[in-house]
Formats: sequence, C-alpha cells, structure tokens
Amino acid sequence: MTSHDPASVTKGPSTFADILEAADRYAATFGHGRLSPIPARAMAIVSCMDCRFDPLSCFDMEPGDVHIIRNAGARVSADVLRSLIMSTIKLDVSRIAVVHHTQCATHSLSSMDVAQAVLEKTGNDPAGIDFMTTYDGHHTLLSDVRDLANCPYLPRGTAVAGFVFEVETGRVKQTTDLFTVR
Ligand SMILES: [Zn+2]
Repeated sequence: MTSHDPASVTKGPSTFADILEAADRYAATFGHGRLSPIPARAMAIVSCMDCRFDPLSCFDMEPGDVHIIRNAGARVSADVLRSLIMSTIKLDVSRIAVVHHTQCATHSLSSMDVAQAVLEKTGNDPAGIDFMTTYDGHHTLLSDVRDLANCPYLPRGTAVAGFVFEVETGRVKQTTDLFTVR
C-alpha cells in the first residue's frame, strides 16, 4: 500500500493517506512558493477551531494575507499571546481580530464538565488544565479583547476588536468596540 494508491485513501482514524494524496495534487499546481512571511493584510485572526468557520473564505483572503491562530473557543491563552507577540513584533501585524462563533461548544459547558469527560474516557484526571470554557461568550470575548489592548508586550497602536461568525448564516458582526493598544 502506498499513499499514491487510491484504494488506500480513506478518512479513517488510523491513516493519513487521504491528506498525503491531496497534498500531492496540491503541490502539482502550487503557486505560493515566493510568498513573504509578512502577512500582506497586516492582520492576525484568533478564532475557534470549529470546522464550520473558514477564515480565508469568509474574509476574502489568500495564503500570505494573514496569521490565523486557532484553539477551542478562540481564547487568548498564554500560547495565543505568545504567537500574537511574534506576529506584531516580528512580522508587522498591526490588527488583531478575535472571532467567536455561534453554537460554540465551549460556551455551553464548564471546565469541570470537560475534566469529568476526560476522566471517564481515559481514566486520568486532567487536574491543572484550564479548558477556558464559558457560559457568557460575549463577556469572555470582550474581556479577552480588553486584555489584548492592555497587553504591555504588544506595540502601541495595534488595533484589536471582537467579532462573531454566525454558523447559521455565514455573517460576521463586530460585537466589541475597536480598541487600540496604548
Ligand atoms: Zn467554537
């Protein structure tokens, strides 16, 4: 069996043949080999990992345009902050959009709920892991955006705002004020 054998291409949990086969086709017509690592739109997007949201299509962007940093719930975790500092300080990003979405799984359960599920499925207690869930998505988004605007490690003048993508309609609304790092 090889990755080039169509019979081996499955979406099963035990093989990556499907993505390798797709990557072969992608490389055959690849045209982005000379892109700059500096995002052309000077923007970083922090979004949920939800598979229904496609930032590039939604915002009419292409490879080379934007940094996209994703995690469960679009939370500004310590690691997201690390990436945003790299984006702004080293790669000329001057705008940060934090994009939540409707029907987010992280808005309907507690961190303890997740910990309990981990315990049931693995037998191990993930004590010490903050799953950063919330029952108030808007407050959490506003709080994360404000924290970014007040972050002393982002350049002055960096624009920050919060948005919500509606998975039902494809529409995006800005749901926080526009903040500027001072
Ligand atoms: Zn989500």
